[in-house]
Amino acid sequence: MHGKNGSCKGCSDEYRVTEEQIDRILAIEMFRTGTSVPDDVYEQRLEHCRACPKLQQGTTCAVCGCFVRIAAKFKDRVCPLPGDSRWGKYA
Ligand code: SF4
Repeated sequence: MHGKNGSCKGCSDEYRVTEEQIDRILAIEMFRTGTSVPDDVYEQRLEHCRACPKLQQGTTCAVCGCFVRIAAKFKDRVCPLPGDSRWGKYA
């Protein structure tokens, strides 16, 4: 679907997610349980994302469509970049 300016609806400012919205998602109980990586691992993963050309609008991975601040929290997640995965599962 396309917005008024011809851009993808999901990419228009009207639909852009804010850091505050992501903060609210990360505040839910699920992210304080055993499914989340330790803070230092989380920061290392985000460092890789910040340096990655696939990061869009500072929030979204263009490969998987996830908000990286949320995806990087999960122990079982892997960076999905084909042939150049930048962070792996946390054991
Ligand atoms: S491809 Fe990997 S490193 Fe790049 S933004 Fe996506 S999750 Fe982050």
